[in-house]
Amino acid sequence: MMHDFENKVVLITGGSRGIGLACAKAFVEKGATVIMCARNEAAVTAAAQALGGTCRGIACDVSDADAVKATVDAVVKEYGALHILVNNAGTTDDGLLARMKNAQWKRVMATNLDGAFYLCRAAARVMLRQRYGRIINIGSVIGLRGQAGQANYAAAKAGLIGFTKAYAREVASRNITVNLVAPGLIDTDMIADLTAEAREAALDHIPVKRAGCPEEIAHAVVFLASDAAAYITGAVLPVDGGLAM
Ligand code: NAP
Repeated sequence: MMHDFENKVVLITGGSRGIGLACAKAFVEKGATVIMCARNEAAVTAAAQALGGTCRGIACDVSDADAVKATVDAVVKEYGALHILVNNAGTTDDGLLARMKNAQWKRVMATNLDGAFYLCRAAARVMLRQRYGRIINIGSVIGLRGQAGQANYAAAKAGLIGFTKAYAREVASRNITVNLVAPGLIDTDMIADLTAEAREAALDHIPVKRAGCPEEIAHAVVFLASDAAAYITGAVLPVDGGLAM
C-alpha cells in the first residue's frame, strides 16, 4: 500500500498550501513523483522542498492558457508522462451580486473554471497516448448549494461539475477517469478570514459540527486516483461532514 503510486507522475495545481499541499504530501508518501504549481514561485518551491522525496514546485498561473501549456509540456518532457492531474487551484472574491464588478466575476471564473479546462486540454494528448489518466477536480459544496455573496464562486464550482461529467464521458473508453471532490468547510487560509460568528453560523449547518482538515480531502483525492477507483468516473464526491445532503 505504501508505494501504490511509485511510478506515477502527479501534477497538482495550487500546491503551495492548504488542500493542494495536503494532496502533494499524501502522494509523496505513497511514492509518487509530484509536481505542484502556484503563482508564488518562492512559496511553492519552498513547500516542495519541505516535502522532500520526488516533489518539485513550479510557478504557473492556471488562468493563463499559455503558461499552463508550457508547464504541462515541461512536465511531460522531463518525466515522460503525466498520470494524475489534481485541479485544485482556487480562489474567492466575494460580494453581493448587485454590486459585483465584472473583474471580480471574471477573476474567479478564470482561476476556478478556466484553469481546469486549460489543464485538462494541455494534459489530454499525453493521457490519451498513455491510455491512462486520473483527473480529480476540486469543486465545492458551494457549487451544489449556492451561497449568498458567492455567485461567482458558486457558478464556477457548479460549472466544474458539468465540465467533469462531460469530459468524463469523452475519455472514459481510454482508461481516463474524471471525478470531482466537493469539500465543505475546510481549515485553510481560504477560510481564515471568517469572523468567529460566521464560523459558528457555518458550523451550525454541518451535521458533524466541525470543520474538516485538508488531509481529509487528500484521502478522497488519493482514493479517486488509485486503481481501487478505476470504475468510478463522472462522480461528485462531497467531503463535507454532511453539509450538502
Ligand atoms: P488556499 O489555502 O487559499 O490555497 C490556494 C492555492 O491555490 C494556493 O497554493 C495558491 O497559491 C493557489 N492558487 C490560487 N490562485 C491560483 C492561480 N491562478 N494559479 C495557480 N495557483 C493558484 O485554498 P484551499 O482552501 O486549499 O483551497 C483549495 C481548493 O479547494 C480550491 O479550489 C477551493 O475553492 C476549494 N475549496 C476549499 C474550501 C475550504 O473551505 N477551504 C471549501 C471548498 C472548496 P498562489 O496564491 O501562490 O497562486
